[in-house]
Amino acid sequence: MTKKTIENKYCSECEHLARFEEVRLIEKVKVKNSMIENEHIYYQCNQCKELFEPFDDPDYNAKLDFEKYKKLNGLLSSKEIKKIRLFYSLSLRQMADLIGISYSTLSEIENGSIQSKLLNNVFLSFKDPFAARNVFKERAAFLSENFDGFLKQIDILCVREEESLSELREEIRNELSELRDQTNDMLARVNLLEYDVSHFSEEMNSDTRNGEIKWKVPITRIMAQL
Ligand SMILES: [Zn+2]
Repeated sequence: MTKKTIENKYCSECEHLARFEEVRLIEKVKVKNSMIENEHIYYQCNQCKELFEPFDDPDYNAKLDFEKYKKLNGLLSSKEIKKIRLFYSLSLRQMADLIGISYSTLSEIENGSIQSKLLNNVFLSFKDPFAARNVFKERAAFLSENFDGFLKQIDILCVREEESLSELREEIRNELSELRDQTNDMLARVNLLEYDVSHFSEEMNSDTRNGEIKWKVPITRIMAQL
């Protein structure tokens, strides 16, 4: 991979126009109570050798560490949280209103801040439209935003979910009746077998009535085959 370079940029450290070259370093940093190891990107001034965070996104490395922390701790990533919100066509303001946090808190989380486990569970519950509808019902009295679009979307999703559930129910019902047919078939065969066996032992009884087994095949022929 070719390293990125930035030509003729003013260096705030040595106060020269300098060339900056991308440098990648494996570093260990502490995030909350976890030590996170990550590859970080810096830009190095060719004059004073000072390292700078990426100029277009100074939080780039910190975000990387936060995302890794979230992954290691089973929390949703910022992208996943945003995806859940957009799935319901909710604005940042609507989503924040709905789950009872401030707009800026949600905006920070979607931009990389770490959410609490509790909040993470709230976001997770939104993966189920029925649960999302319950969140809305519980919060309805406190909401100030307009949720007409969201409610329409939820209704469509819930109907779709119910349809796919009833399809599943129908499938299970069909499989069960097939199983029942197979079982009946097997039982019928077992009955036939039992009939044969009892019939056979009756025959045996009558054959041994005289104290000896009457072989169906003459014994001399059996001996001949040995
Ligand atoms: Zn410099």
